[in-house]
Amino acid sequence: MGNAYLKYHKTHLTLALLFLFVFSLAFTQNPFVSAKSHSLIFNESNAYNHISSQLDFGFRVPGTTAHNNCADWIVDQMQTYADEVFVHDFSIQKESQPNYYCQNILGKINTNKTKIVILGAHWDSRNVAEKDTYNQSQPIPGANDGGSGVAVLIELSRVLSLYKDNLDCQIWFLFLDAEDQGYSLGMYGLEFWDWCEGSMKFVDDIEEFYDSKSEKINSFILLDMVGGTDLIFTRETNSDLILHNRIFREGRKLGYSSAFPLNPTEISVIDDHIAFKDYGIPAVDLIIDFMNGEWNYHHTHSDNLDNIDSESLKIIGQTIESYMKSHYTGSFPLWGYFIIIFSSGILVIIPLVYLYKRIKK
Ligand SMILES: [Zn+2]
Repeated sequence: MGNAYLKYHKTHLTLALLFLFVFSLAFTQNPFVSAKSHSLIFNESNAYNHISSQLDFGFRVPGTTAHNNCADWIVDQMQTYADEVFVHDFSIQKESQPNYYCQNILGKINTNKTKIVILGAHWDSRNVAEKDTYNQSQPIPGANDGGSGVAVLIELSRVLSLYKDNLDCQIWFLFLDAEDQGYSLGMYGLEFWDWCEGSMKFVDDIEEFYDSKSEKINSFILLDMVGGTDLIFTRETNSDLILHNRIFREGRKLGYSSAFPLNPTEISVIDDHIAFKDYGIPAVDLIIDFMNGEWNYHHTHSDNLDNIDSESLKIIGQTIESYMKSHYTGSFPLWGYFIIIFSSGILVIIPLVYLYKRIKK
């Protein structure tokens, strides 16, 4: 083989590999995309208005017109932003009490993806104010307890629906009914009801909403009381620690270190995540220390708009938006890595072999 012939082929081979390298880089959006480089578009004013809209319906207590109207409104919101909307009807009847009709509402995006992430919040509000000093038997506005989680979920459905083609997962926006009527300080919200009735009913029927053979629920993230002033999340001990740490890290990465502290207060809460955890799904409850923390309007008439802070809505909204974008942006194919490693290797080896031959001569 003549020298000129070899040289000619070497040049072509190098060019071909260089092309391959550049070509494969074009597919590598992921490894080089950091959370910071995603522009975050969660709008806290939208979320704040969504709380206000819920409060305008009145007290969202099962069995009331306000409850029915709020359900219709959530379905409307999901019909705007989700690809598919489901209403999970169920009823609750305790001892000689009346029968109450309730609804869990589910909006799904990216239903063609097999991995599912559930973002959840309860949408009913408590029928009594057992922790207040007056009118304890009257219902509470539930601006934070109920309203804030729903509001953030609706705004996230807008934000993530705009980004859905880049996500490698399906997202469920799940609005759970009948969470907040259990027994506390001598009072039921609704007579003889347990806490978290809606999530237990949903998980009982969960296989009606996905195909457990071909789809897999990756995680359940619960937002509860996320919009109050002085937002500081706890380490909720029934929650999956890996999931908890990932979300806290994401929040701190965005500069929200006081809301997601390095050493959070530990609390243990019976909340809607328990049913999902018991079903075998890693679950986390993003919740404040509502017993001894800074925000002390839990189950009182002061759980109203005066004690909501838009900045808190921004902190949780952006953190979840960023978390979803950093952890679920389309996965880079394995063959891509092989091509990069292979072509980079060749690009180093060819000049070395060439140099070696020159020196040997
Ligand atoms: Zn509550």
